[in-house]
Amino acid sequence: MTDCSFCNGVEHSSVLIEGTLCYFMDTGDPILVGGGMILPRAHRETVFDLTKEEWDETQSLLEQAKNMLDDKYAPDGYSVG
Ligand SMILES: [Zn+2]
Repeated sequence: MTDCSFCNGVEHSSVLIEGTLCYFMDTGDPILVGGGMILPRAHRETVFDLTKEEWDETQSLLEQAKNMLDDKYAPDGYSVG
């Protein structure tokens, strides 16, 4: 899909954790410091289109991202959506 901003607009430098099927990237939001997204490498219309393997890797990346953010920002909590 050529008009997908997630498939076409991700700066490689913003990718913080590389997975096989998915990756975690910093959104670079100056207000929501530490905010990030986990995205599949393959285009998916919605989160409900993720494969079982992508869901599994998303969970793993979420845990790795939490560890990274705990070390860097020591936040009081997380909001996951
Ligand atoms: Zn896409």
